[in-house]
Amino acid sequence: MLIVPERLIADLVSPADAFAAIEACFAAMARGEAYNFPVIREALGGGRQYGFKSGLDRAAGRLGVKAGGYFPGNAAKGLTNHQSTVFLFDPETGLPLAMVGGNLLTALRTAAASALSIDRLARADAKVLGMIGAGHQAGFQLRAAARARAFERVVAWNLHPEMLPKLGAIAAELGLPFEAVSLDRLGAEADVIVTITSSDRFSLADAQVRPGTHLACMGTDTVGKQEVEPALLARATLFTDEVAQSVSIGEAQHAVKAGLVAAKRITPLGDVLIGAHPGRREAGEITLYDGTGVGLQDLAVAAVALTRATERGVALSADL
Ligand code: NAD
Repeated sequence: MLIVPERLIADLVSPADAFAAIEACFAAMARGEAYNFPVIREALGGGRQYGFKSGLDRAAGRLGVKAGGYFPGNAAKGLTNHQSTVFLFDPETGLPLAMVGGNLLTALRTAAASALSIDRLARADAKVLGMIGAGHQAGFQLRAAARARAFERVVAWNLHPEMLPKLGAIAAELGLPFEAVSLDRLGAEADVIVTITSSDRFSLADAQVRPGTHLACMGTDTVGKQEVEPALLARATLFTDEVAQSVSIGEAQHAVKAGLVAAKRITPLGDVLIGAHPGRREAGEITLYDGTGVGLQDLAVAAVALTRATERGVALSADL
């Protein structure tokens, strides 16, 4: 079995690699070649969450699981609160192939999915990017979004405004003017809005979003989290990575529970990639991508890391 430690990932997998891997992964899901197994997520007490996301991609010959979770005490120990590891297995024999550090890969695959939704669903003339959230994932989201459209500036809001300058520094690095604004202004000015918070009640109201906007709602990945008002989902054209996750642990959970949206109204982004759905139909349409994060995404980027590490001879080897 090979081991690709976390410290090697940044040199092995680029945002462009992640984008290509997620595009192929969602297309394989839409063609029925790949599927995710049900997610397991457990509260361990003290705010700690632990779970497993797994799946099988028959065409790519990929089987595996990401094990990980959220450990709020880690920051005080100088560690990242979110910790995860991806395990890849041979789908024919079940033998373990690799153990791959999953922290940076999680950020890269999540940002890649959001960017892919922008690439395929946002208006071609989108100029202003709105960012809601300024935590660990937000910087990755901003960098990936900036690759999907020629944005001219960024407007941002965060519940904790003291976190915004760090995101502003990334915008500056990308050459994008950055302004902290109210949610009213953000909705009125942004063509594309990325939400990436751990909120348990919505920040962005339906009335704050104008026609033609594309939203990538990326923060809600668990029962109870929420970023946008359910009424917004009722008037948007809805896309997701996987419908089963969208209605149970994604942003759509609330609109579905309220009877505002039915699962059949939500389209997998993969359907757009393989031409089974046209995506955005009109300039004035609101498109909303509910990014819940699926196990196959983790396997796809871990496979890239493993291939690169093997090619370069940097993977560690261990006998089990
Ligand atoms: P983080 O802890 O670094 O940042 C949390 C962010 O949420 C901060 O901007 C904070 O100000 C904001 N926030 C906290 N409480 C809020 C509230 N009540 N209202 C509004 N904003 C609030 O977390 P992170 O690592 O950046 O992750 C953000 C979210 O993305 C988490 O919910 C995480 O589970 C989720 N996530 C989703 C995926 C996916 O595939 N969809 C992948 C990774 C992370």
